Amino acid sequence: MTIHQPQFARGMFVDGDYVDAAAGKTLPVENPKNGEIIGVVADGDATDIEAAVQAAERAFTTWGDTTGAERADIMERAAQILRRRLPEFVSLEIDQIGRCRREMAAQLSRVPEWFSYFGAVARTHEDTVPPFGRTHLNYTRRVPIGVVGHVTPWNHPILILTKKIAPAMAAGNTMVVKPSEIAPITPLMLGEVFKEAGLPNGVYNVVPGYGPTTGLALTSHPRIRKIDLTGGTATGRVIAEMAGKNLIPFTAELGGKASLVMFPDTPVERCVAATLFASFVATGQTCVQGSRLVVHRSIHDRVVAELSRRADLIRLGDPQDPATQLGPLSSKRQRDTVERYVKIGLDEGATLAAGGKRPDGEAFSRGYYYRPTVFTDVKNEMRIAQEEIFGPVVVVIPFDTEEEAIALANGTEFGLGTSVWTKDVARAHRVAHAIRAGIVWINDHHRIDPASPWGGFKMSGLGRENGLIAYDEYTQIQSVIVNLSDAAFDWYSDDGGEKRYS
Ligand code: NAD
Repeated sequence: MTIHQPQFARGMFVDGDYVDAAAGKTLPVENPKNGEIIGVVADGDATDIEAAVQAAERAFTTWGDTTGAERADIMERAAQILRRRLPEFVSLEIDQIGRCRREMAAQLSRVPEWFSYFGAVARTHEDTVPPFGRTHLNYTRRVPIGVVGHVTPWNHPILILTKKIAPAMAAGNTMVVKPSEIAPITPLMLGEVFKEAGLPNGVYNVVPGYGPTTGLALTSHPRIRKIDLTGGTATGRVIAEMAGKNLIPFTAELGGKASLVMFPDTPVERCVAATLFASFVATGQTCVQGSRLVVHRSIHDRVVAELSRRADLIRLGDPQDPATQLGPLSSKRQRDTVERYVKIGLDEGATLAAGGKRPDGEAFSRGYYYRPTVFTDVKNEMRIAQEEIFGPVVVVIPFDTEEEAIALANGTEFGLGTSVWTKDVARAHRVAHAIRAGIVWINDHHRIDPASPWGGFKMSGLGRENGLIAYDEYTQIQSVIVNLSDAAFDWYSDDGGEKRYS
Protein backbone atom coordinates (compact mmCIF):
# COMPACT_ATOMS: atom_id res chain seq x y z
CA MET A 1 0.00 0.00 0.00
CA THR A 2 1.27 3.50 -0.82
CA ILE A 3 0.78 6.01 1.99
CA HIS A 4 -0.26 9.42 0.60
CA GLN A 5 0.41 12.89 1.85
CA PRO A 6 -3.21 13.94 2.30
CA GLN A 7 -2.60 17.49 1.11
CA PHE A 8 -1.65 16.20 -2.39
CA ALA A 9 -3.97 13.27 -2.92
CA ARG A 10 -6.55 11.50 -0.87
CA GLY A 11 -7.03 7.83 -1.59
CA MET A 12 -9.18 6.36 1.13
CA PHE A 13 -8.86 6.69 4.93
CA VAL A 14 -8.45 3.31 6.60
CA ASP A 15 -7.02 2.49 10.01
CA GLY A 16 -5.79 6.05 10.49
CA ASP A 17 -3.93 6.46 7.17
CA TYR A 18 -4.60 7.63 3.64
CA VAL A 19 -3.97 4.69 1.33
CA ASP A 20 -4.67 3.64 -2.25
CA ALA A 21 -7.43 1.25 -3.23
CA ALA A 22 -6.06 -2.31 -3.39
CA ALA A 23 -6.77 -2.51 -7.12
CA GLY A 24 -5.34 0.99 -7.65
CA LYS A 25 -8.58 2.36 -9.11
CA THR A 26 -9.28 6.08 -8.74
CA LEU A 27 -12.24 8.41 -8.91
CA PRO A 28 -12.00 12.02 -10.16
CA VAL A 29 -13.79 14.85 -8.33
CA GLU A 30 -15.08 17.66 -10.49
CA ASN A 31 -15.74 21.33 -9.75
CA PRO A 32 -19.28 21.98 -11.03
CA LYS A 33 -18.60 25.66 -11.70
CA ASN A 34 -16.21 24.88 -14.57
CA GLY A 35 -15.86 21.10 -14.95
CA GLU A 36 -12.22 21.08 -13.76
CA ILE A 37 -10.93 18.07 -11.83
CA ILE A 38 -10.07 19.24 -8.33
CA GLY A 39 -9.11 15.96 -6.71
CA VAL A 40 -8.53 12.30 -7.25
CA VAL A 41 -9.53 9.81 -4.57
CA ALA A 42 -9.64 6.02 -4.36
CA ASP A 43 -12.43 4.07 -6.01
CA GLY A 44 -12.78 1.28 -3.47
CA ASP A 45 -14.06 -2.22 -4.08
CA ALA A 46 -15.10 -5.16 -1.88
CA THR A 47 -11.46 -5.82 -0.88
CA ASP A 48 -11.11 -2.26 0.38
CA ILE A 49 -14.42 -2.43 2.24
CA GLU A 50 -13.22 -5.67 3.87
CA ALA A 51 -9.97 -3.97 4.95
CA ALA A 52 -11.94 -1.05 6.41
CA VAL A 53 -14.38 -3.36 8.21
CA GLN A 54 -11.48 -5.30 9.71
CA ALA A 55 -9.83 -2.07 10.90
CA ALA A 56 -13.13 -0.98 12.44
CA GLU A 57 -13.57 -4.37 14.11
CA ARG A 58 -10.10 -4.19 15.65
CA ALA A 59 -10.79 -0.64 16.88
CA PHE A 60 -14.16 -1.68 18.31
CA THR A 61 -12.51 -4.05 20.79
CA THR A 62 -11.10 -1.02 22.65
CA TRP A 63 -13.26 1.95 21.53
CA GLY A 64 -16.43 0.04 22.37
CA ASP A 65 -15.13 -0.31 25.90
CA THR A 66 -14.22 3.35 26.56
CA THR A 67 -16.35 5.42 28.89
CA GLY A 68 -18.72 8.06 27.63
CA ALA A 69 -16.51 10.71 29.24
CA GLU A 70 -13.42 9.47 27.40
CA ARG A 71 -15.25 9.59 24.08
CA ALA A 72 -16.68 13.03 24.90
CA ASP A 73 -13.17 14.44 25.50
CA ILE A 74 -12.00 13.34 22.05
CA MET A 75 -15.16 14.56 20.35
CA GLU A 76 -14.88 17.97 22.00
CA ARG A 77 -11.27 18.20 20.80
CA ALA A 78 -12.43 17.28 17.28
CA ALA A 79 -15.05 20.07 17.46
CA GLN A 80 -12.37 22.59 18.38
CA ILE A 81 -9.99 21.46 15.62
CA LEU A 82 -12.80 21.61 13.10
CA ARG A 83 -13.65 25.16 14.20
CA ARG A 84 -10.01 26.15 13.63
CA ARG A 85 -9.93 24.52 10.19
CA LEU A 86 -13.36 25.69 9.02
CA PRO A 87 -12.14 28.09 6.28
CA GLU A 88 -10.31 25.22 4.59
CA PHE A 89 -13.35 22.93 4.81
CA VAL A 90 -15.67 25.68 3.54
CA SER A 91 -13.49 26.23 0.51
CA LEU A 92 -13.26 22.52 -0.30
CA GLU A 93 -17.00 22.01 0.07
CA ILE A 94 -17.65 24.91 -2.32
CA ASP A 95 -15.28 23.40 -4.89
CA GLN A 96 -16.89 19.97 -4.63
CA ILE A 97 -20.55 20.89 -4.86
CA GLY A 98 -20.72 24.51 -6.08
CA ARG A 99 -22.78 25.81 -3.20
CA CYS A 100 -22.12 29.51 -2.67
CA ARG A 101 -19.77 30.76 0.04
CA ARG A 102 -22.28 32.70 2.11
CA GLU A 103 -24.37 29.54 2.58
CA MET A 104 -21.52 27.08 2.99
CA ALA A 105 -19.80 29.24 5.63
CA ALA A 106 -23.06 29.53 7.57
CA GLN A 107 -23.75 25.79 7.39
CA LEU A 108 -20.27 24.60 8.31
CA SER A 109 -19.98 27.03 11.24
CA ARG A 110 -22.61 24.87 12.96
CA VAL A 111 -21.14 21.44 12.23
CA PRO A 112 -18.83 21.32 15.30
CA GLU A 113 -21.93 21.61 17.50
CA TRP A 114 -22.88 18.03 16.58
CA PHE A 115 -19.65 16.68 18.09
CA SER A 116 -20.10 18.82 21.21
CA TYR A 117 -23.75 17.84 21.60
CA PHE A 118 -23.29 14.09 21.17
CA GLY A 119 -20.12 14.15 23.30
CA ALA A 120 -22.24 15.67 26.05
CA VAL A 121 -24.88 12.99 25.52
CA ALA A 122 -22.23 10.27 25.84
CA ARG A 123 -21.08 11.86 29.09
CA THR A 124 -24.51 12.21 30.67
CA HIS A 125 -27.09 9.84 29.17
CA GLU A 126 -28.04 7.17 31.70
CA ASP A 127 -30.88 4.72 32.11
CA THR A 128 -32.31 3.16 35.21
CA VAL A 129 -35.27 0.83 35.56
CA PRO A 130 -37.56 0.36 38.57
CA PRO A 131 -36.68 -2.48 40.97
CA PHE A 132 -37.93 -5.87 39.81
CA GLY A 133 -39.88 -7.55 42.64
CA ARG A 134 -38.23 -7.96 46.05
CA THR A 135 -35.55 -10.38 45.06
CA HIS A 136 -34.18 -9.01 41.82
CA LEU A 137 -32.34 -5.93 40.80
CA ASN A 138 -32.50 -5.06 37.13
CA TYR A 139 -30.42 -2.45 35.41
CA THR A 140 -29.86 -1.69 31.77
CA ARG A 141 -26.74 -0.84 29.86
CA ARG A 142 -26.61 0.95 26.56
CA VAL A 143 -24.00 -0.89 24.59
CA PRO A 144 -22.69 0.07 21.17
CA ILE A 145 -23.86 -1.92 18.17
CA GLY A 146 -20.44 -2.57 16.62
CA VAL A 147 -19.16 -1.65 13.16
CA VAL A 148 -21.72 0.55 11.40
CA GLY A 149 -21.91 1.53 7.72
CA HIS A 150 -22.67 5.11 6.66
CA VAL A 151 -23.70 5.95 3.10
CA THR A 152 -24.00 9.68 2.41
CA PRO A 153 -25.12 12.02 -0.40
CA TRP A 154 -23.37 14.99 -1.98
CA ASN A 155 -25.71 17.85 -1.14
CA HIS A 156 -24.41 18.65 2.38
CA PRO A 157 -21.29 16.45 2.48
CA ILE A 158 -19.98 17.23 5.97
CA LEU A 159 -23.20 18.21 7.72
CA ILE A 160 -25.00 14.99 6.82
CA LEU A 161 -21.99 12.85 7.55
CA THR A 162 -21.62 14.53 10.95
CA LYS A 163 -25.28 13.87 11.78
CA LYS A 164 -24.41 10.18 11.49
CA ILE A 165 -20.87 9.82 12.81
CA ALA A 166 -21.32 12.04 15.89
CA PRO A 167 -23.99 9.86 17.57
CA ALA A 168 -22.35 6.65 16.31
CA MET A 169 -18.97 7.64 17.76
CA ALA A 170 -20.46 9.01 20.98
CA ALA A 171 -22.21 5.69 21.60
CA GLY A 172 -18.95 3.74 21.14
CA ASN A 173 -19.38 2.33 17.64
CA THR A 174 -16.72 2.24 14.93
CA MET A 175 -17.59 3.07 11.36
CA VAL A 176 -16.98 2.65 7.65
CA VAL A 177 -18.22 5.56 5.53
CA LYS A 178 -19.02 5.43 1.82
CA PRO A 179 -19.36 9.10 0.88
CA SER A 180 -20.97 10.31 -2.32
CA GLU A 181 -18.82 9.83 -5.41
CA ILE A 182 -19.44 13.53 -6.14
CA ALA A 183 -18.16 14.90 -2.81
CA PRO A 184 -15.71 12.53 -1.10
CA ILE A 185 -12.93 15.03 -0.31
CA THR A 186 -14.18 16.66 2.88
CA PRO A 187 -15.27 13.34 4.43
CA LEU A 188 -11.70 12.14 3.81
CA MET A 189 -10.25 15.35 5.27
CA LEU A 190 -12.21 14.75 8.47
CA GLY A 191 -9.87 11.80 9.06
CA GLU A 192 -7.06 14.31 9.72
CA VAL A 193 -9.22 16.16 12.23
CA PHE A 194 -9.98 12.97 14.16
CA LYS A 195 -6.36 11.88 14.09
CA GLU A 196 -5.26 15.19 15.59
CA ALA A 197 -8.04 14.92 18.19
CA GLY A 198 -6.65 11.56 19.34
CA LEU A 199 -9.37 9.28 17.98
CA PRO A 200 -7.87 5.77 17.87
CA ASN A 201 -7.01 4.44 14.41
CA GLY A 202 -9.77 2.39 12.83
CA VAL A 203 -12.70 4.09 14.56
CA TYR A 204 -13.40 6.28 11.50
CA ASN A 205 -12.76 4.82 8.04
CA VAL A 206 -13.74 6.24 4.64
CA VAL A 207 -13.84 4.22 1.43
CA PRO A 208 -14.93 6.37 -1.53
CA GLY A 209 -16.46 4.86 -4.63
CA TYR A 210 -19.70 4.43 -6.53
CA GLY A 211 -23.05 3.27 -5.11
CA PRO A 212 -23.68 0.03 -6.99
CA THR A 213 -20.09 -1.18 -6.37
CA THR A 214 -18.48 0.25 -3.22
CA GLY A 215 -21.83 1.13 -1.64
CA LEU A 216 -23.20 -2.34 -2.34
CA ALA A 217 -20.05 -3.98 -0.90
CA LEU A 218 -20.53 -2.02 2.31
CA THR A 219 -24.28 -2.36 2.72
CA SER A 220 -24.28 -6.11 1.95
CA HIS A 221 -21.25 -6.85 4.14
CA PRO A 222 -22.24 -9.60 6.59
CA ARG A 223 -20.38 -8.12 9.57
CA ILE A 224 -21.80 -4.58 9.36
CA ARG A 225 -24.18 -4.28 12.32
CA LYS A 226 -26.23 -1.23 11.27
CA ILE A 227 -26.63 0.87 8.13
CA ASP A 228 -27.43 4.56 8.05
CA LEU A 229 -28.18 6.09 4.65
CA THR A 230 -29.05 9.54 3.46
CA GLY A 231 -30.01 9.45 -0.19
CA GLY A 232 -32.85 9.06 -2.64
CA THR A 233 -35.92 6.93 -1.90
CA ALA A 234 -34.98 4.46 -4.68
CA THR A 235 -31.56 3.91 -3.05
CA GLY A 236 -33.29 3.52 0.32
CA ARG A 237 -35.38 0.64 -1.04
CA VAL A 238 -32.32 -1.16 -2.45
CA ILE A 239 -30.36 -0.84 0.81
CA ALA A 240 -33.39 -1.79 2.92
CA GLU A 241 -33.31 -5.17 1.19
CA MET A 242 -29.68 -5.68 2.22
CA ALA A 243 -30.46 -4.68 5.80
CA GLY A 244 -33.45 -7.04 5.78
CA LYS A 245 -31.34 -9.95 4.54
CA ASN A 246 -28.72 -9.36 7.22
CA LEU A 247 -31.37 -8.56 9.88
CA ILE A 248 -29.74 -5.33 10.95
CA PRO A 249 -31.22 -1.95 11.86
CA PHE A 250 -31.46 0.58 9.06
CA THR A 251 -31.84 4.34 9.37
CA ALA A 252 -32.88 6.03 6.14
CA GLU A 253 -33.09 9.75 5.49
CA LEU A 254 -34.62 9.88 2.03
CA GLY A 255 -36.23 12.19 -0.47
CA GLY A 256 -38.75 14.96 0.06
CA LYS A 257 -41.13 17.36 -1.64
CA ALA A 258 -41.69 19.98 1.04
CA SER A 259 -44.52 22.49 0.92
CA LEU A 260 -44.69 26.01 2.27
CA VAL A 261 -48.29 26.61 3.34
CA MET A 262 -49.04 30.35 3.18
CA PHE A 263 -52.17 31.58 4.91
CA PRO A 264 -53.58 34.95 3.81
CA ASP A 265 -52.47 36.83 6.94
CA THR A 266 -48.85 36.47 5.76
CA PRO A 267 -47.71 39.74 4.16
CA VAL A 268 -46.78 39.29 0.49
CA GLU A 269 -43.15 40.42 1.02
CA ARG A 270 -42.68 37.88 3.83
CA CYS A 271 -44.28 35.15 1.77
CA VAL A 272 -41.94 35.91 -1.12
CA ALA A 273 -38.79 36.17 1.03
CA ALA A 274 -39.66 32.87 2.73
CA THR A 275 -40.21 31.11 -0.59
CA LEU A 276 -36.96 32.40 -2.09
CA PHE A 277 -35.09 31.11 0.96
CA ALA A 278 -36.90 27.77 1.17
CA SER A 279 -36.78 27.05 -2.56
CA PHE A 280 -33.45 28.32 -3.82
CA VAL A 281 -30.91 27.88 -1.00
CA ALA A 282 -28.31 25.31 -2.10
CA THR A 283 -29.62 25.85 -5.66
CA GLY A 284 -32.67 23.91 -4.52
CA GLN A 285 -30.65 20.78 -3.77
CA THR A 286 -31.88 20.00 -0.28
CA CYS A 287 -34.22 17.26 0.89
CA VAL A 288 -36.50 19.82 2.54
CA GLN A 289 -36.41 22.29 -0.34
CA GLY A 290 -39.67 24.26 -0.35
CA SER A 291 -40.48 22.98 -3.80
CA ARG A 292 -44.26 23.48 -3.46
CA LEU A 293 -45.72 26.87 -2.56
CA VAL A 294 -49.28 26.21 -1.38
CA VAL A 295 -50.69 29.71 -1.15
CA HIS A 296 -54.10 31.20 -0.38
CA ARG A 297 -55.91 32.24 -3.53
CA SER A 298 -56.48 35.78 -2.23
CA ILE A 299 -52.74 36.54 -2.32
CA HIS A 300 -51.72 34.10 -5.09
CA ASP A 301 -51.38 36.57 -7.99
CA ARG A 302 -49.47 39.20 -6.01
CA VAL A 303 -47.16 36.56 -4.57
CA VAL A 304 -46.45 35.04 -7.99
CA ALA A 305 -45.68 38.44 -9.52
CA GLU A 306 -43.29 39.46 -6.74
CA LEU A 307 -41.73 35.99 -6.42
CA SER A 308 -40.95 35.91 -10.13
CA ARG A 309 -39.52 39.43 -10.06
CA ARG A 310 -37.28 38.63 -7.08
CA ALA A 311 -36.24 35.21 -8.48
CA ASP A 312 -35.00 36.94 -11.63
CA LEU A 313 -32.84 39.26 -9.50
CA ILE A 314 -30.94 36.47 -7.67
CA ARG A 315 -27.23 36.84 -8.45
CA LEU A 316 -25.73 33.72 -10.01
CA GLY A 317 -21.96 33.51 -10.09
CA ASP A 318 -18.73 31.96 -8.89
CA PRO A 319 -19.66 30.16 -5.67
CA GLN A 320 -16.35 31.15 -4.08
CA ASP A 321 -17.29 34.84 -4.45
CA PRO A 322 -18.95 36.07 -1.22
CA ALA A 323 -21.32 38.23 -3.30
CA THR A 324 -22.75 35.25 -5.21
CA GLN A 325 -26.27 34.24 -4.18
CA LEU A 326 -26.70 31.08 -6.27
CA GLY A 327 -24.06 28.65 -7.46
CA PRO A 328 -24.30 25.97 -10.14
CA LEU A 329 -26.05 22.65 -9.73
CA SER A 330 -23.64 20.08 -8.33
CA SER A 331 -23.25 17.97 -11.45
CA LYS A 332 -24.13 17.80 -15.12
CA ARG A 333 -26.47 14.93 -14.28
CA GLN A 334 -28.36 17.12 -11.82
CA ARG A 335 -28.78 19.91 -14.35
CA ASP A 336 -29.95 17.39 -16.96
CA THR A 337 -32.59 16.24 -14.44
CA VAL A 338 -33.77 19.81 -13.85
CA GLU A 339 -33.98 20.49 -17.58
CA ARG A 340 -35.91 17.25 -18.10
CA TYR A 341 -38.44 18.22 -15.41
CA VAL A 342 -38.91 21.72 -16.77
CA LYS A 343 -39.84 20.18 -20.11
CA ILE A 344 -42.19 17.73 -18.34
CA GLY A 345 -43.84 20.67 -16.54
CA LEU A 346 -44.42 22.55 -19.80
CA ASP A 347 -45.75 19.40 -21.47
CA GLU A 348 -48.13 18.92 -18.52
CA GLY A 349 -49.55 22.40 -19.13
CA ALA A 350 -47.87 24.41 -16.35
CA THR A 351 -46.76 27.98 -17.03
CA LEU A 352 -43.27 29.35 -16.47
CA ALA A 353 -43.41 32.56 -14.42
CA ALA A 354 -39.61 32.82 -14.00
CA GLY A 355 -36.46 31.01 -15.11
CA GLY A 356 -36.84 27.77 -17.02
CA LYS A 357 -33.45 28.16 -18.69
CA ARG A 358 -29.70 28.37 -18.22
CA PRO A 359 -28.25 31.85 -17.58
CA ASP A 360 -26.73 33.65 -20.54
CA GLY A 361 -23.09 34.69 -20.65
CA GLU A 362 -19.59 33.34 -21.01
CA ALA A 363 -19.11 33.25 -17.20
CA PHE A 364 -21.63 30.42 -16.98
CA SER A 365 -20.76 28.46 -20.10
CA ARG A 366 -18.58 25.78 -18.47
CA GLY A 367 -20.55 25.29 -15.25
CA TYR A 368 -23.87 23.59 -14.53
CA TYR A 369 -25.86 26.75 -13.87
CA TYR A 370 -29.64 27.09 -14.06
CA ARG A 371 -31.90 30.05 -13.39
CA PRO A 372 -34.31 30.05 -10.39
CA THR A 373 -37.56 28.76 -11.82
CA VAL A 374 -41.19 29.35 -10.84
CA PHE A 375 -44.10 27.34 -12.29
CA THR A 376 -47.78 28.41 -12.03
CA ASP A 377 -51.00 26.80 -13.31
CA VAL A 378 -49.88 23.67 -11.52
CA LYS A 379 -52.21 20.83 -10.54
CA ASN A 380 -51.26 18.70 -7.55
CA GLU A 381 -51.21 15.51 -9.60
CA MET A 382 -48.64 16.84 -12.10
CA ARG A 383 -45.22 15.17 -11.95
CA ILE A 384 -43.50 18.51 -11.25
CA ALA A 385 -45.68 18.78 -8.11
CA GLN A 386 -45.15 15.17 -7.02
CA GLU A 387 -41.60 14.10 -7.85
CA GLU A 388 -38.38 15.30 -6.27
CA ILE A 389 -36.57 17.47 -8.84
CA PHE A 390 -33.71 18.55 -6.57
CA GLY A 391 -33.01 21.85 -8.27
CA PRO A 392 -34.07 25.52 -8.19
CA VAL A 393 -37.67 24.89 -9.22
CA VAL A 394 -40.78 25.81 -7.21
CA VAL A 395 -44.37 25.10 -8.20
CA VAL A 396 -47.20 27.34 -6.98
CA ILE A 397 -50.61 25.85 -6.11
CA PRO A 398 -53.52 27.95 -4.77
CA PHE A 399 -56.00 26.89 -2.04
CA ASP A 400 -59.24 28.27 -0.63
CA THR A 401 -59.79 26.56 2.74
CA GLU A 402 -57.62 25.30 5.60
CA GLU A 403 -58.73 21.70 4.88
CA GLU A 404 -57.66 22.10 1.27
CA ALA A 405 -54.27 23.48 2.34
CA ILE A 406 -53.68 20.51 4.63
CA ALA A 407 -54.74 18.04 1.95
CA LEU A 408 -52.36 19.65 -0.53
CA ALA A 409 -49.46 19.71 1.94
CA ASN A 410 -50.05 16.01 2.64
CA GLY A 411 -50.75 15.23 -0.99
CA THR A 412 -47.47 13.59 -2.00
CA GLU A 413 -45.84 10.25 -1.18
CA PHE A 414 -43.18 12.11 0.84
CA GLY A 415 -43.33 13.38 4.42
CA LEU A 416 -40.08 15.03 5.41
CA GLY A 417 -40.65 18.76 6.02
CA THR A 418 -43.42 21.35 5.74
CA SER A 419 -43.57 24.97 6.79
CA VAL A 420 -46.74 26.73 7.93
CA TRP A 421 -46.94 30.51 7.67
CA THR A 422 -49.55 32.41 9.69
CA LYS A 423 -49.80 34.75 12.67
CA ASP A 424 -52.83 32.83 13.98
CA VAL A 425 -51.38 30.72 16.81
CA ALA A 426 -54.27 28.28 17.02
CA ARG A 427 -54.29 27.70 13.27
CA ALA A 428 -50.50 27.26 13.18
CA HIS A 429 -50.57 24.42 15.73
CA ARG A 430 -53.77 22.88 14.37
CA VAL A 431 -52.32 22.68 10.88
CA ALA A 432 -48.92 21.47 12.15
CA HIS A 433 -50.63 18.59 13.94
CA ALA A 434 -52.50 17.62 10.78
CA ILE A 435 -49.34 17.53 8.67
CA ARG A 436 -47.89 14.06 8.00
CA ALA A 437 -44.23 15.05 8.03
CA GLY A 438 -41.33 14.50 10.40
CA ILE A 439 -40.45 18.19 10.61
CA VAL A 440 -42.90 21.10 10.68
CA TRP A 441 -41.67 24.66 10.90
CA ILE A 442 -43.99 27.50 11.87
CA ASN A 443 -43.02 30.80 10.25
CA ASP A 444 -39.62 29.44 9.26
CA HIS A 445 -38.01 26.81 7.04
CA HIS A 446 -34.75 24.81 6.82
CA ARG A 447 -33.87 25.23 10.54
CA ILE A 448 -31.96 22.36 12.09
CA ASP A 449 -30.23 21.71 15.40
CA PRO A 450 -28.25 18.77 16.83
CA ALA A 451 -30.85 18.39 19.62
CA SER A 452 -33.87 18.48 17.31
CA PRO A 453 -34.99 15.07 15.93
CA TRP A 454 -34.88 14.88 12.14
CA GLY A 455 -36.45 12.32 9.84
CA GLY A 456 -39.26 11.44 7.52
CA PHE A 457 -42.78 10.06 7.52
CA LYS A 458 -44.01 7.96 4.58
CA MET A 459 -41.48 7.54 1.72
CA SER A 460 -39.08 10.06 3.29
CA GLY A 461 -37.44 7.58 5.60
CA LEU A 462 -37.07 5.45 8.68
CA GLY A 463 -35.57 6.33 12.05
CA ARG A 464 -34.30 9.69 13.22
CA GLU A 465 -31.13 11.76 13.19
CA ASN A 466 -30.27 14.30 15.91
CA GLY A 467 -31.34 14.38 19.52
CA LEU A 468 -31.30 11.63 22.14
CA ILE A 469 -33.28 9.40 19.81
CA ALA A 470 -30.35 9.31 17.35
CA TYR A 471 -27.95 8.34 20.13
CA ASP A 472 -30.33 5.61 21.27
CA GLU A 473 -30.56 4.30 17.71
CA TYR A 474 -26.79 3.74 17.83
CA THR A 475 -27.01 1.60 20.96
CA GLN A 476 -28.61 -1.65 21.92
CA ILE A 477 -29.97 -2.26 25.38
CA GLN A 478 -28.58 -4.94 27.61
CA SER A 479 -30.79 -5.79 30.58
CA VAL A 480 -28.82 -7.15 33.55
CA ILE A 481 -31.01 -9.02 36.07
CA VAL A 482 -29.38 -9.78 39.43
CA ASN A 483 -30.81 -12.27 41.90
CA LEU A 484 -30.49 -10.73 45.38
CA SER A 485 -31.86 -13.76 47.22
CA ASP A 486 -29.86 -16.31 49.21
CA ALA A 487 -32.68 -18.86 48.93
CA ALA A 488 -31.80 -22.29 47.57
CA PHE A 489 -31.75 -22.38 43.79
CA ASP A 490 -33.03 -25.75 42.73
CA TRP A 491 -36.01 -25.57 40.48
CA TYR A 492 -36.55 -29.35 40.44
CA SER A 493 -36.40 -30.03 44.22
CA ASP A 494 -39.75 -30.49 45.94
CA ASP A 495 -39.26 -27.80 48.54
CA GLY A 496 -36.36 -25.64 47.34
CA GLY A 497 -36.08 -22.81 44.88
CA GLU A 498 -38.36 -20.04 43.91
CA LYS A 499 -41.27 -21.21 41.78
CA ARG A 500 -41.76 -17.99 39.93
CA TYR A 501 -39.91 -17.32 36.70
CA SER A 502 -42.04 -14.91 34.79
P1 NAD B 1 -28.36 8.83 -4.03
O1 NAD B 1 -29.43 7.98 -3.49
O2 NAD B 1 -28.10 8.79 -5.49
O3 NAD B 1 -26.96 8.46 -3.34
C1 NAD B 1 -26.79 8.50 -1.94
C2 NAD B 1 -25.62 7.59 -1.58
O4 NAD B 1 -26.02 6.24 -1.82
C3 NAD B 1 -24.36 7.83 -2.41
O5 NAD B 1 -23.22 7.67 -1.61
C4 NAD B 1 -24.45 6.71 -3.45
O6 NAD B 1 -23.20 6.35 -4.00
C5 NAD B 1 -25.03 5.59 -2.62
N1 NAD B 1 -25.71 4.54 -3.40
C6 NAD B 1 -26.43 4.69 -4.54
N2 NAD B 1 -26.88 3.48 -4.95
C7 NAD B 1 -26.47 2.57 -4.05
C8 NAD B 1 -26.62 1.15 -3.92
N3 NAD B 1 -27.29 0.44 -4.82
N4 NAD B 1 -26.06 0.53 -2.86
C9 NAD B 1 -25.37 1.23 -1.93
N5 NAD B 1 -25.17 2.58 -2.01
C10 NAD B 1 -25.73 3.24 -3.05
O7 NAD B 1 -28.65 10.30 -3.53
P2 NAD B 1 -27.86 11.64 -3.87
O8 NAD B 1 -28.19 12.05 -5.27
O9 NAD B 1 -26.43 11.54 -3.48
O10 NAD B 1 -28.56 12.65 -2.82
C11 NAD B 1 -29.77 13.25 -3.07
C12 NAD B 1 -30.91 12.54 -2.36
O11 NAD B 1 -30.67 12.49 -0.96
C13 NAD B 1 -32.22 13.25 -2.54
O12 NAD B 1 -33.26 12.33 -2.77
C14 NAD B 1 -32.43 13.95 -1.20
O13 NAD B 1 -33.77 14.23 -0.88
C15 NAD B 1 -31.83 12.94 -0.28
N6 NAD B 1 -31.47 13.60 0.99
C16 NAD B 1 -32.23 13.34 2.09
C17 NAD B 1 -31.95 14.00 3.28
C18 NAD B 1 -32.77 13.76 4.52
O14 NAD B 1 -32.39 14.24 5.59
N7 NAD B 1 -33.88 13.04 4.44
C19 NAD B 1 -30.89 14.91 3.34
C20 NAD B 1 -30.15 15.14 2.19
C21 NAD B 1 -30.44 14.47 1.01
